[in-house]
Amino acid sequence: MLVDIKPIARAAGASLPVDLSGTPEAVGLGDAGYRFLGPVTFAGTVSNTGDGLLVLTGTAAASYEGDCGRCLRPVRGNLSATVAETYRSRHAVDADRKAKAGTEETDEDGMGVRFEGWTIDVAEAVREALALGLPSRVLCREDCKGICPVCFADRNERDCGHEGNDAGESAFERLKELL
Ligand SMILES: [Zn+2]
Ligand SMILES: [Zn+2]
Repeated sequence: MLVDIKPIARAAGASLPVDLSGTPEAVGLGDAGYRFLGPVTFAGTVSNTGDGLLVLTGTAAASYEGDCGRCLRPVRGNLSATVAETYRSRHAVDADRKAKAGTEETDEDGMGVRFEGWTIDVAEAVREALALGLPSRVLCREDCKGICPVCFADRNERDCGHEGNDAGESAFERLKELL
């Protein structure tokens, strides 16, 4: 998810609309515990705030499918998350380091993510925002009865008569933690 920042690179105060889409794999969401359906999108702006700083703001969106935490039925959801990230040109960082000799080089400091040249890659900012927005688990419905721990019957479909109301849920949660 690359943004060409050439049009605003030399114009402090200028901003640029950004409209991107990428595959879940390209964004790095391939192993987030959910199946992503269709592309991941981002819409927002990138602004040149001067001193080699670019500020990205906008909204990332994706559709996903997970397994119900009680009965393992597939559940679909739509996710949208606010993205805010600052990028700082390597030239500005180098100039700073010359001014403060002896400071350690890092890829990311309090002043934002480094970039070089005429593009910034916003995939990591999009990935982080979406990963934070994902629920820790999904339910097919709030009152899903889950699966019987004794005979594995889907209790939403039939009452097998076995004891243990919430055992199905906790059994699956324990199983999931072990995997
Ligand atoms: Zn369920
Ligand atoms: Zn049963």
